[in-house]
Amino acid sequence: MSEESNPNQQVEAARLAFAREFERFANLETTLSLQQAEAEQRAIAELRTRHAGKKSTIAACKKLIGRVAPEDRAGFGQLVQRTEAEITQALDDAETKLKSIIEAARITRESIDVTIPGRRPRAGHLHPITLMRQRIEDIFVSLGYIVEDDREIETDFYNFDALNIPEGHPARDPQDTFYTTEGFALRSQTSTVQIHAMQRRGAPVRMIAPGRVFRRDTPDPTHNPMFYQVEGLCVDRGITMAHLKGTLAEFAHRLFGPETKTRFRPSYFPFTEPSAEVDYSCFNCGGKGCRICKQSGWIELGGSGMVHPNVLRAANVDPEEFTGFAFGLGIDRTCARIYQLDDIRLLFENDIRFLEQFR
Ligand SMILES: [Zn+2]
Repeated sequence: MSEESNPNQQVEAARLAFAREFERFANLETTLSLQQAEAEQRAIAELRTRHAGKKSTIAACKKLIGRVAPEDRAGFGQLVQRTEAEITQALDDAETKLKSIIEAARITRESIDVTIPGRRPRAGHLHPITLMRQRIEDIFVSLGYIVEDDREIETDFYNFDALNIPEGHPARDPQDTFYTTEGFALRSQTSTVQIHAMQRRGAPVRMIAPGRVFRRDTPDPTHNPMFYQVEGLCVDRGITMAHLKGTLAEFAHRLFGPETKTRFRPSYFPFTEPSAEVDYSCFNCGGKGCRICKQSGWIELGGSGMVHPNVLRAANVDPEEFTGFAFGLGIDRTCARIYQLDDIRLLFENDIRFLEQFR
């Protein structure tokens, strides 16, 4: 600012310089985003420093008031004050407006839109195999059986020797069983739990053991290398084949209906003697023959028999004092029959579209 320039012109220059830069803040859009409004707020603060601060042109003009001719002093002083007030007022107005824009933007950001549909929590449900297992457990618990659970990896003793499956028996073939590197095998039947239960509890004992078993089967519509069985064991003084037949007949009545008949066909299992396959009359056709029972009228329930004396001995139960019966049923197989599944693998694929039907 030179001494020669007209003080009035200097005030006008300060006013114009401010007006040029302030122009874009004169009509602030209320649609500014929070970020944009905050940036404008910082720009206004910077504008205030330059045009109304201690080093601004208008501040320099104030210092000139005492130096203008006495007759012009009052008029010049008023001009400076009016201009300064104009600048300050414009900055204050812009700042107030920005504050309200920012506040509104913050409220919008923090508010909840109640018109958006809520997210419904996805409630799960039990797997069909679990539902079937629970139905089976309920029936046997009401008949006085306890439910046992045990390991899935077994030693040769529990998987074979104690179950009267000697060395060289086809069931011990590596083609039929999964062996681990340490000489253990995945149990190929839940019968292993018979031995554990008798060793732990002694005789008499009445127990069922639902659980997973493993065979080296190639998966197909009726086979899976892992499936579910439920083992049953009843050991006491004077237990006979009649108890076995009565128990499984009662079980079939409760699971498939009171009209259900059962039949026993002679069979062979190493761990029972005598042994029998158990069938029940078809729950769908009542024995007349249909697609589910393959026109035979009968559906296979599982294997059964009187516990072999060698098995009792392996579990330290005296076969002279105690006798017992045992049976094994397929849980997933029964499940597939009841729900008329053409492919047992559906039960293991965890496809939500399939499983949701059992809600
Ligand atoms: Zn049928």
